[in-house]
Amino acid sequence: MLPSQILKKKRLGAELSESEIRFLIEGLKTGEVSDLHITAFLTSSCIIGLSGTEVKALTLAMRDSGSKFDFTSLGKPVIDKHSTGGVGDKLSLLLVPITAEAGISVPMISGRGLGHTGGTVDKLESISGFRIRLKDSEYMELMKQNGCFMACQTEDLAPADKTLYHIRDITGNVESVGLITASILSKKLVEGLGGLVVDMKVGNGAFMQDLSQATQLASSMAMVGKEAGLPMRIIFTSMEQPLGYSVGNWLEVVETIEALSGNYQPDIRELTVKLAAHMIHLGGVKETLEDSAKLAVDIWDSGKALTKFHELVEAQGGDLEKSKNNYENTDIFVIRSEQNGFISAIDTLYIGIAGIMIGAGRKNIDDEIDYSAGILIRKKVGDQVKKGEILAELRGLSVKNNTEAQDLVKNCFLITEADIKRNAKIILDEWTI
Ligand code: URA
Repeated sequence: MLPSQILKKKRLGAELSESEIRFLIEGLKTGEVSDLHITAFLTSSCIIGLSGTEVKALTLAMRDSGSKFDFTSLGKPVIDKHSTGGVGDKLSLLLVPITAEAGISVPMISGRGLGHTGGTVDKLESISGFRIRLKDSEYMELMKQNGCFMACQTEDLAPADKTLYHIRDITGNVESVGLITASILSKKLVEGLGGLVVDMKVGNGAFMQDLSQATQLASSMAMVGKEAGLPMRIIFTSMEQPLGYSVGNWLEVVETIEALSGNYQPDIRELTVKLAAHMIHLGGVKETLEDSAKLAVDIWDSGKALTKFHELVEAQGGDLEKSKNNYENTDIFVIRSEQNGFISAIDTLYIGIAGIMIGAGRKNIDDEIDYSAGILIRKKVGDQVKKGEILAELRGLSVKNNTEAQDLVKNCFLITEADIKRNAKIILDEWTI
């Protein structure tokens, strides 16, 4: 097969066969297919879309691009969660320790920042020494020792997704139902899971801007999940403002530790308990969702989840104190309100973009991240604000002179005289597949 002929077929709108898609993905390894070919495939897929058959073929080819885990010998439910991408979304850092403590085995493989959204791998790498690339022998060891690990893809674990993910990120080819489905499920299908909870982000800070787009993505994921025999829960959650109060890698680790210590924002608490409950219930640890939620709350409030978080970090070589010393003396630029009123909306997409502009994410594949960089959100939707009060703080090594990012963040806050948005719902829908 010739890559150029397959690419032309796709560009002209015809459906690719399973073997053509497999050829493109396997060709990445053999060298018959280059990054340029993949860029053309991704661009056509974003513009034209992928059929259900193509999405299934792509997911399975990407799954098969490396090896797979098998944790059945542990005799415990193996469950994971994945988010479709958000801003300030640090929920994985809370969920892994809570659910591992509840008796679930959680082999979490995550990605780096994608588009304007943050990635769990980047957040973990802000922890000095944290080893996100694990040796083959360590996966099972960590599962036995802690009931969990948090790792990145390697040349062995869904490597095709790693390549496609990077190329999509820097070529603006992220927002595609088919590509997101294949990216998430290929990574998750190598984990040998008994079930997956998907946090389907919806809103101006998500790839799916409204419920109808999110429903399309959920249906696509449900279709592939069913074919692959993976039980799933899909929880639709609002991404109309950053989650919690921090956006940026180290800042989000700090917020995680505060939250697990009992000092949490209401949105973090509500979403984490909901997702943890679904993971625990899906794993069959408790018979009802209510009992599962209660178990998550008990584990959190007893401090056991915080202890588990420290165990996880230590087991993977992380040193939180060192990161604190490295990043906490960074520069700060404060953004104040120029009027009295109420926060009616926060443009979350542009908060994410401002984060990239100040070094919390990458503009190019090889960009170094400034782990100290990020944005602290001091007023959330529905809050009252007085002229001169702080709306947000920019942190990072380049924030003092970055007037573009400063203006962008200031303009993200829509302030109105009336309080029009208090008590907006965070959990929008829940599907069992
Ligand atoms: N998360 C992923 O892993 N992939 C995507 O494409 C979007 C979110």
